Amino acid sequence: MDELRELYQQVILDHNKSPRNFGELAQANHAAEGYNPLCGDRIHLFLIVANGVIQDLRFTGQGCAISKASASIMTSLVKGKSTAEAQELFSKFLQLITSDPTRAVDLSGFDRLAVFAGVREFPLRVKCASLAWHTLMSALADSGAVVTTE
Ligand code: ZN
Repeated sequence: MDELRELYQQVILDHNKSPRNFGELAQANHAAEGYNPLCGDRIHLFLIVANGVIQDLRFTGQGCAISKASASIMTSLVKGKSTAEAQELFSKFLQLITSDPTRAVDLSGFDRLAVFAGVREFPLRVKCASLAWHTLMSALADSGAVVTTE
């Protein structure tokens, strides 16, 4: 398990250092802002959605390694997926990171999201890991409000 933990940590650090899909998206037709006051994480998300499919998305912002890695991994995972698939992935992810940390969890099928299983032990970090996803849901709904994790 320790080896796995180390591997997960490396993935998070790598995405933090070289975030995928980082930057603005001039042609975006959906956008949203997210803020996690408990940690100071900020994210601005830009999406191009056509025919119910997330064609492209990018993010900017600043925050801790977990929030940035989560945004990076989230954008890589949902690009090319339908909005319904993205919503499904979000609820699966939320279930994972808010589940009882004393119980073993089956991480197969979680793809790169599995690296965040460790945040279950740190309730404050759950907000860092879920910020990008909450912001994605807001962008898809075009609510216009800034998402906060409170
Ligand atoms: Zn954070």
